[in-house]
Amino acid sequence: MTRDSRRIARIRGKLLDWYDANHRDLPWRRSRDPYAIWISETMLQQTRVETVIPYYERFLERFPDVHALASADREDVFGLWAGLGYYSRARNLHDAARIVADEHDGCLPDQADALRALPGIGRYTAGALASIAFDRPEPVVDGNVVRVLSRIFGIREDVGAKAVVDELWELAGSLAHGPRPGDLNQALMELGATVCTPRSPRCDACTLRRSCNAAKRGDAEALPIKSKKTKVRNARASVAWIVRGGEAGGRGGRAEKVLAVRRPEGGLLAGLWELPGNALRADIDPEQSLREHVDQSLGLTIDGVEELGEVEHAFTHIRLRLRVFACGAGGERVRRDGYAEHRWISCAGFEQLPQATLTRKAAALTR
Ligand code: SF4
Repeated sequence: MTRDSRRIARIRGKLLDWYDANHRDLPWRRSRDPYAIWISETMLQQTRVETVIPYYERFLERFPDVHALASADREDVFGLWAGLGYYSRARNLHDAARIVADEHDGCLPDQADALRALPGIGRYTAGALASIAFDRPEPVVDGNVVRVLSRIFGIREDVGAKAVVDELWELAGSLAHGPRPGDLNQALMELGATVCTPRSPRCDACTLRRSCNAAKRGDAEALPIKSKKTKVRNARASVAWIVRGGEAGGRGGRAEKVLAVRRPEGGLLAGLWELPGNALRADIDPEQSLREHVDQSLGLTIDGVEELGEVEHAFTHIRLRLRVFACGAGGERVRRDGYAEHRWISCAGFEQLPQATLTRKAAALTR
């Protein structure tokens, strides 16, 4: 055994002992069912544990196995996802469940490579599923693991650089190549979530303090190093709350039906419902721009336009400010240029449609 492998074995042993004594009791940790673990890993991407728990429980109650999910309507799947955000996860999960039901007899593949062939399963999720559900010695590297590993091993280079990413996966791989790889991976993530936190890591209480480079150097909070900041672009758009059967610009339930449109499959917010609208240009009046968009894409002439306000939402690369208008509309037939579907729907019905957080914020201005 080399010095490095002895160090890896020591860290692995400490992590497993710590995990056994300290891990949080989470619903998905009570299950050995690969399907349940898959649902939890998908929901946990970019979402906090506390938020996921009720969604996970409702989802499994409604779709207890792959076949139940595979045979569900897309809108029912989206309905259970409403509020969790990042609907592409639900779409991929649903598509993948259909493939698993059709091509794998309803059983998830137990190897990382085969898992990665399914929609929505990347390197991280494949590693998590293969190790946690099938006890395969596959690594996982997420934000928590990057932080913990860069501190333990004293990695003081940009963790976004390709060579450093490779090094982190390699280190995680050496740790996972031992007993109980699923628990080991969960221990790394758990330590990052509860002890080795981004701010004020609790090194004094950490099981790895004697093996940790950053704890010895006293610069844990400065790691990991992320030199490349994502550039965020500012954008503006306007949307119309178009009512039929009520007063133009009506609020507070006077409108009978509102026009909802569904985005095409593919691209940003694919397949979600929203209010008709378009991006704003600096040289065009927002109301005029909206009139032209509704005329050209839906064949309707809006009238009685009233501005309700503005909402803001931050996507990964874009900060979008959305101006919201209420109006009536002339014309019966709705053309759908650029939208997959449309519905005239009650306000209560609109709230139930699968939609992005931004659309919820815009609709809230009408109440
Ligand atoms: S000793 Fe401190 S920096 Fe090192 S892993 Fe533990 S909490 Fe993180």
